[in-house]
This record gives sequence, structure tokens and C-alpha cells, in this order.
Amino acid sequence: MVSEQEIRYAAEIIKQGGLVAFPTETVYGLGANALNPLAVARIFTSKERPSFDPLIVHIASIADLEILAEKLDDRVYILADKFWPGPLTIVLPKSKIVPDIVTSGLNTVGIRMPDNRIALELIKHAGCPIAAPSANKFGRISPTKAQHVKKQLPDIDCILDGGSTTIGIESTVITLHSDGFVILRQGKITKEDLEKVLPYSKQDIDQNEIMSSPGNIKSHYSPNKPLYILGDNLEGLDTKNAAFLSFGTIPDREFKIIEFLSENGNLDEAAIKLFEKLHILEDSDVEFIIAEPVPEKGIGIAIMDRLQKAAHKYL
Ligand code: AMP
Ligand code: MG
Repeated sequence: MVSEQEIRYAAEIIKQGGLVAFPTETVYGLGANALNPLAVARIFTSKERPSFDPLIVHIASIADLEILAEKLDDRVYILADKFWPGPLTIVLPKSKIVPDIVTSGLNTVGIRMPDNRIALELIKHAGCPIAAPSANKFGRISPTKAQHVKKQLPDIDCILDGGSTTIGIESTVITLHSDGFVILRQGKITKEDLEKVLPYSKQDIDQNEIMSSPGNIKSHYSPNKPLYILGDNLEGLDTKNAAFLSFGTIPDREFKIIEFLSENGNLDEAAIKLFEKLHILEDSDVEFIIAEPVPEKGIGIAIMDRLQKAAHKYL
């Protein structure tokens, strides 16, 4: 358990322009005062993240939203009411107060209210919104435990250890068109969940909206060894020194390690375990990883998005 005192200590670091890794319900974030450009610059340096990839700003109240974003219409309040705190990031026109470095020069800002006590208290005690991407090196596996953060970012000022995250993959990112919402990145909250409160837009997504941001480029979330998605690609392959990442299937050939995303095809469980299992297999001595695909429904869409990006450079 993280104590109130530890959270206050971490909040002090944020106030002074330092970096704090903290748990959210999705993955661990690497946070800095979103209104301090020098502090935010340290996030990019520490992650080796390219400056064209915008950050999500985390808030603890609707008052913060109103300071950061402009042209808020009723739909934003409906979404906030239904999905916040929770794993939904809404990209909105930004106010002048948001430094360009946070949004990679875009005139929009991605905002969400995380559903995690430690994260919310950290933001409240720091007294500022917190810009935070996932707390991993650029392009690598996202962290779902404090030890994953330590592995990739050993030098940051402070890590609040809140145990394993409860959802395990990043937030759904959406933006609003005049006729409804569009999804910029898949996550726990699905198109169907959102359609219960707003229509899906019929207008195309503009390339400027997606940006060339890593959440959307083809290779991301990668382990340090080859990962392939199971298809017809096992033919003639020697898997004795490989790992199998299973969604319930027991392979009929030899593997050195078998890890289960779920033993009985549970997609929520698979989302929680995805990055954790990839960290375990990355740290093991196998030569490569074969992952079983999961059904592309509900959160399975977001899981396959992450697996395909993790596998992309090995296609
Ligand atoms: P992460 O590194 O997991 O925090 O991912 C942040 C992702 O949120 C980016 O890579 C984008 O996909 C998305 N995002 C954040 N802000 C914006 C924005 N203003 N416009 C479009 N996408 C954004
Ligand atoms: Mg990330």
C-alpha cells in the first residue's frame, strides 16, 4: 500500500519539476507537471520518446478539464459523466495554458481522469494536471507493475508502487467530430460502449488527428526478442527454444515455455496479463515468442492491436 505521506512526497517532486512514475488502472504512467514545459521535456528525454508523440494529460476534477480544454460542449460532459474516472482519453481543442511540448505542437490535447486512488491523490496534492505517457522506454513493452518501470527507467526520481494495474492496457483515445466520436486508439472502452451515449461519426478521421504518434505507428509495445502471431507460420519452425503465449490452446509441439494470457479464453484476464507475460518472456532465455491470437471483440480488439504492433518489426 502506498501511504498518504508517500503520495505527498511524490507530489512535492512533481511541484518541483521532477518525474514520478505512478499506477493508473491501465498501465503505469511517467508523470510531470503538465503546465511546466521543462518538466515535461524530461519525460521525453527519460523515455527517449520522439517529440512528435503527444502526451495524455491526467486530471482529478472537471475543473481541471475546463482549464485545459476549450469549446467544451454537452457531449464532453456526457462522456465524462459516464466514463470518468476511467480508461477513456478525449482529445479536445487545447487552451493556451497547455504547453506545446505536451501536445507535440497540435492545437488539441488528450485528457483523461484515471480510475486509481493513488493517481487521483497525486494529482490533487501536486495541485496541477499531470502529463503522463506509459512509463517505459519508447516503443517497448508497457509497465503494469512497479518493477517493470524500474527495469526500463532505473533513474527516475520516484516510483509509487501500487501493485499490478487492474486493466493492463492503455486507454481508449477518442475525439469528437460534429456528428459524433471517432476512435484514435483502441482500448478497454469499446465502440459499442461509446455508442450507448453518442453516435459514431460518419466523417473520415483526418490524418492530423491520428498523427504519426507511436500509439498509432505500426511497430510499438515490442519485446526485445522476436514475436510472431500464430498463423500458418509454425511450419518447419523449431520451437524447442521458443515460448508460446497461449489464450487457452495447448500447442501440439514442444516449446521451452508456455505462458497463458488466460487458460479459459477470458479477454479481460488476457488484457491484464498481456504486458506482464511479455515482460516475463522478454526476460527469459527463449529465442522467440509465438502468440496465439485472441478473438477481435470487446477488449480483444485492443489486445490484437497491441500484439500486431509488438510483432510488426518481425513480419
Ligand atoms: P501513451 O504513450 O500510452 O500515453 O499514449 C499517448 C497516445 O495518446 C499518443 O500516442 C496518441 O496516440 C494519443 N494522443 C495523445 N494526445 C493526442 C492528441 N492531441 N491528438 C491525437 N492523439 C493524441
Ligand atoms: Mg506508451
